[in-house]
Amino acid sequence: MIDFDSPSTRALRNAGYKLTTPRLTILEILEKHGGHLTSSELLKLVEERDTTIGRASVFRTLDLMIKLGIIWTTVQGGSTVHYMLMPGGHHHHIICTNCHKLIEFEDCRLEPLIRAMQDKYGVRVDGHLLELYGLCSDCRNAQAMELSAATIPQDDDDD
Ligand SMILES: [Zn+2]
Ligand SMILES: [Zn+2]
Ligand SMILES: [Zn+2]
Repeated sequence: MIDFDSPSTRALRNAGYKLTTPRLTILEILEKHGGHLTSSELLKLVEERDTTIGRASVFRTLDLMIKLGIIWTTVQGGSTVHYMLMPGGHHHHIICTNCHKLIEFEDCRLEPLIRAMQDKYGVRVDGHLLELYGLCSDCRNAQAMELSAATIPQDDDDD
């Protein structure tokens, strides 16, 4: 099911681009898969969906949407390029540095910072990817257990 009124399709329309089948298909697939895919995953899913959309068309569409700030590329955990949907111009992650779990969150409250940076550097900010790194709750709990196990007093007194 294609959402014709998502932030991404609005961004395409506002920039004067038609909602063609390759554009809608790619947006829909990205949305369905949590907002990020590698190029090989994306190519495979597009092919499964619609064999009339060729590779060249996929990459042309991706290039256009990158130019418009609807999709950004990122390199996650290695050298593989991921295509990432930027709903409303932003995308936020918390990434566990231990187990690499990725948590998505919506509300970034970056507007005051963005306004300040626009004033300071005279730029127009169109979007952002915010990634916070740290230990997730599971890894923190595991670490706390290890620590408490390590600090259990050893019974090595010789009376
Ligand atoms: Zn973790
Ligand atoms: Zn994400
Ligand atoms: Zn944000």
